Amino acid sequence: MKQQLTLLGATGSIGASTLDIMALHADAYELFAVTANSNHDALFAICQKHQPRYAVMVNDAAAQALSRRCQQEAVKTEVLSGEAALAQVSSASEVDVVMAAIVGAAGLQPTLAAVNAGKRVLLANKEALVMSGQLFMDAVEKSGAQLLPVDSEHNAIFQCLTPHAQAQLGHVNLAEEGISKILLTGSGGPFLDLPLPQLAAQTPAAACKHPNWSMGQKISVDSATMLNKGLEYIEARWLFNCAEHEIDVIIHPQSVIHSMVQYTDGSVLAQLGQPDMKTPIAHCLHYPKRQNSGVPALDFTTLNALTFTRPEMERFPCLRLAQQACWHGQAATTALNAANEIAVAAFLEQKIQFSGIAEVCKRVLDRIELPALATIADIIAFDAATRREATTIAEALQ
Ligand code: NAD
Ligand code: MG
Repeated sequence: MKQQLTLLGATGSIGASTLDIMALHADAYELFAVTANSNHDALFAICQKHQPRYAVMVNDAAAQALSRRCQQEAVKTEVLSGEAALAQVSSASEVDVVMAAIVGAAGLQPTLAAVNAGKRVLLANKEALVMSGQLFMDAVEKSGAQLLPVDSEHNAIFQCLTPHAQAQLGHVNLAEEGISKILLTGSGGPFLDLPLPQLAAQTPAAACKHPNWSMGQKISVDSATMLNKGLEYIEARWLFNCAEHEIDVIIHPQSVIHSMVQYTDGSVLAQLGQPDMKTPIAHCLHYPKRQNSGVPALDFTTLNALTFTRPEMERFPCLRLAQQACWHGQAATTALNAANEIAVAAFLEQKIQFSGIAEVCKRVLDRIELPALATIADIIAFDAATRREATTIAEALQ
């Protein structure tokens, strides 16, 4: 029997790679639903080609346009609209697997709907986990959902664990597994070697030109500030149940090693590959089996040196902020994520400078009171309050 898959964020970069891999294995998966925010042309092209049962557009006018287009061109996909429909197609009883590939906090509720319904959840949407941490992992445990990490670093770490540890995501005892450290690698992004005085005035186009990976705009900017690595640090803390002394960030500009696990006997296991998200996506889709992803094998004879350094905190203040927030508690990471989303949007609209992103994040964390967040409703309300504060701060920087 084919597995039924809901693809949240189908029109994005992870969405496109997922569709490519599904097309390679049409015998294994059927597309139950695809979703997007407002780009109805892109979602229509997907509906026409892949014939999902449902398509959700968050934006109502876009949903109407998509619905008209499907009728005109005899595409049988049923179009739904609004945020509630995202949760509906994530938790529907027919669905086996949900690829969570919406960008940002907007992915939290639909991803949690899939988790609460006990689905197999392929997690690309790191912001959902960063903003809800313990509550997210508790929900996974309670429902019996199977969580698989798509983010290349976390997927690499996952691949370097024993099956016993893989089955205990969220509450694995690293010391008992003989693990001394999780080594999270990052390329350092496009500004790794830029003279520091030139950093402040970098443009969105320059920030989005990643040397190794091709990705959506928001994560590209996050890679340039290295807040992406900061979010991944927080993501790793929850997935692999790390204490502060059990996780380090290392710059590895070639992006050949996608992260490593250091064991107490001196062994270090690493996962290597091309910098192409199709590999971790295929790994999650076929886990525990291995199947073709369409990604060419690494040719070691053509590789240049693999190099490693420590991140310079003066260059990447966002990474430091994220590491501090990580050990400060849930509200700090929820606030940082919200502040960053506002700051990155303002930067992409050229309202603030590149250096303004770290400034907004820092000022928000300095100013905002950090409450206890006991429920998802608390988190959503605090996320909204932080966004208002961050917007005011970003406007003051303009
Ligand atoms: P993208 O910008 O290319 O695509 C985002 C998708 O989310 C689109 O389909 C868009 O329609 C949808 N979306 C945006 N706002 C929405 C909203 N308010 N409500 C509902 N849907 C909305 O992003 P991407 O690069 O594919 O990244 C998706 C997620 O995967 C992010 O969380 C990112 O951090 C993570 N991720 C991406 C990569 C990568 O290589 N692109 C790697 C690792 C992790
Ligand atoms: Mg990553």
